[in-house]
Amino acid sequence: MSYDKNNIFAKILRGEIPCKKVYENEYVLSFYDTNPKKKIHVLVIPKNEYIDLDDFTNKASDKEIVEFNKAILHVVKMLKISSHERGYRVLSNIGKDGGQEVPHFHYHIFGGEQIGKMVV
Ligand code: 5GP
Repeated sequence: MSYDKNNIFAKILRGEIPCKKVYENEYVLSFYDTNPKKKIHVLVIPKNEYIDLDDFTNKASDKEIVEFNKAILHVVKMLKISSHERGYRVLSNIGKDGGQEVPHFHYHIFGGEQIGKMVV
């Protein structure tokens, strides 16, 4: 499967669709999910074109992978839900069975309340 340049997150990255930004740097963009499943529900996406975690891990540079993970830590600190504070959960849906809706790699960050069961 090739990357769909018209997916919603690609449009957000191009500025064609607005987002409520949390954080941005050279490598990533983080913004609030429009349909939050928990009190805090934020997405973190790489700026380059990757379909999912597999694609990202196979094709991204080591620098991009490190920066992506560091951005997650940065965002949870900004939101005051880091491991030293209330804690949080990260999740990435991959493919059909994983329930991925938007084919641009992303991590969900949930927090601000008890997240509950790992999988329902
Ligand atoms: P997935 O199921 O692909 O892991 O998650 C996609 C997420 O993107 C969903 O939680 C959905 O609510 C969110 N989403 C879909 N369209 C938009 C949008 O236009 N803006 C924002 N901020 N989030 C969106």
